[in-house]
Amino acid sequence: MDPRNKKFAELCGICWHEDEWINHKYICKKCKASLSDSLPGMWNPDFVIHPTLVLREMMKRDDWYDFSHSLWVETFSEVTTSKLSINYQVEFMIERSIPNRYILDTTEGRLLDAAIKFMEEKQ
Ligand SMILES: [Zn+2]
Repeated sequence: MDPRNKKFAELCGICWHEDEWINHKYICKKCKASLSDSLPGMWNPDFVIHPTLVLREMMKRDDWYDFSHSLWVETFSEVTTSKLSINYQVEFMIERSIPNRYILDTTEGRLLDAAIKFMEEKQ
């Protein structure tokens, strides 16, 4: 597992589970959570392959707005200071602006519903 995962979990105050085999169960040595319900290798989150998990953690913070703003500044500073046409700048921003409520939803299928509705309306 990428070492950045553990570093991020620790910065967020999330236990980076370390398993111990006790009474025929895997238990976390640090927080005592039962790990037996998950497959080995799934005990700790992989923030690299699941960036929405990073977003969920960052949104819990009081400085979430500052973090979000810093991403916008980094992403858009290059294009907005360029001499590209305003149409290209708008296209660039739209392409990178899927709202969080679609990206982070894992229960209602919001992005799926929106995609189906969009494609059906195009038929
Ligand atoms: Zn733990």
